[in-house]
Amino acid sequence: MKILKGYVFRMYPNVFQKKLIEKSFGCSRFIYNYYLNDKQREYKEKGKSKTAYDQIKALPELCKEKPFLKEVDSCILRNSIFNLDNAYQKFYKEHIGYPNYKRKGIHENYKTNNIKSTYKRKEYNSIKIDLTERTIKLPKLGKVKVRGYRNKKEIGNIKSAVIKKEAGRYYISILVEEEIEVPKIVPTSIVGIDLGIKDTIITSNGYKLKIPSISKELKRLKGYQKALSRSERKSKNRYKIKMIIQRIYQKIKNIRKYFIHQITNKIVKEDDIIVLGDLDIKGMYENHKVAKELTHIPLSEIMEKLRYKSKYEGKYLIQIDRYYPSSQICSRCNYQNKEIKDLKIRKWECPRCKTTHDRDYNATENILFEGLKKYMKIKTREEQVAK
Ligand SMILES: [Zn+2]
Repeated sequence: MKILKGYVFRMYPNVFQKKLIEKSFGCSRFIYNYYLNDKQREYKEKGKSKTAYDQIKALPELCKEKPFLKEVDSCILRNSIFNLDNAYQKFYKEHIGYPNYKRKGIHENYKTNNIKSTYKRKEYNSIKIDLTERTIKLPKLGKVKVRGYRNKKEIGNIKSAVIKKEAGRYYISILVEEEIEVPKIVPTSIVGIDLGIKDTIITSNGYKLKIPSISKELKRLKGYQKALSRSERKSKNRYKIKMIIQRIYQKIKNIRKYFIHQITNKIVKEDDIIVLGDLDIKGMYENHKVAKELTHIPLSEIMEKLRYKSKYEGKYLIQIDRYYPSSQICSRCNYQNKEIKDLKIRKWECPRCKTTHDRDYNATENILFEGLKKYMKIKTREEQVAK
């Protein structure tokens, strides 16, 4: 199976390369803003404006007028046009805000593509990675030192790369096409998973995994944000505080990312059939106290990672119906206890069979059974098709 995968490396450009990267950010931003302005003007005058295709066709002419654009990799300019086009598409289709002008210093990045060519029967790539030398060769920049993925020996077919600057540091994320072999497995184990409300992920085999707290980081963030609002505009101190704030954001992101990778790897490794309960996140937001904690838990990311990781490992991921009342049903006798709707109840006794239940654990058991039923249906259907 062919899959697309992303790798992020920290980059260590030299003085010359840094200058060119900054220039590339500038050109990417210039093209975006130039055509945004152009589109708005044309629309006012004629009621319609150039398409992305027309803009690309007009690029050489613009480069003649503004020679500084020729100093950077031409893919960057084209991608910037596509980027603007995407922003417009989103605005029309999903009614998400009208495209804004890009400002310097905020989310600086640019995208370039790997262009393949053959010369005297030899294949050349405009982007090339050397994992023993720890360098990435990029158009116009040449070889840039990188760090990351120490144990990797080989990386697949490079499609494109995004170079970005975050908290004063440079990163490159490359998109790669890789061929993987999905193992054929006969499932022998099953696990039910519920995403709990109290910062936990609960599994039917007894794990309660706490989502790491970021309250310390949030407290620091609040302090520095206050300091930022008090600092003098355009001062050195203000710049320093901004950097610190960006690093705190980066840290929060990394804590989450590491945790999600760790937990999803563990789940996919240990069991063959993974059954997920559905947590209605929107419904939860109505409960004010819960909402505050949830805003920082990327549940959707966990689901997404589980989805592709199980696919690559040949395992079954089953999601049960979102209206299935997993926490209200007694996993022993199937009695439905409607009082358990109240999220404050953590432990309860079944009025019919008198079993004492831990709220979350009981729910995961029900999720497991529901998932097993669903899996059996899938299996029978597969067997019928095979016949
Ligand atoms: Zn019962």
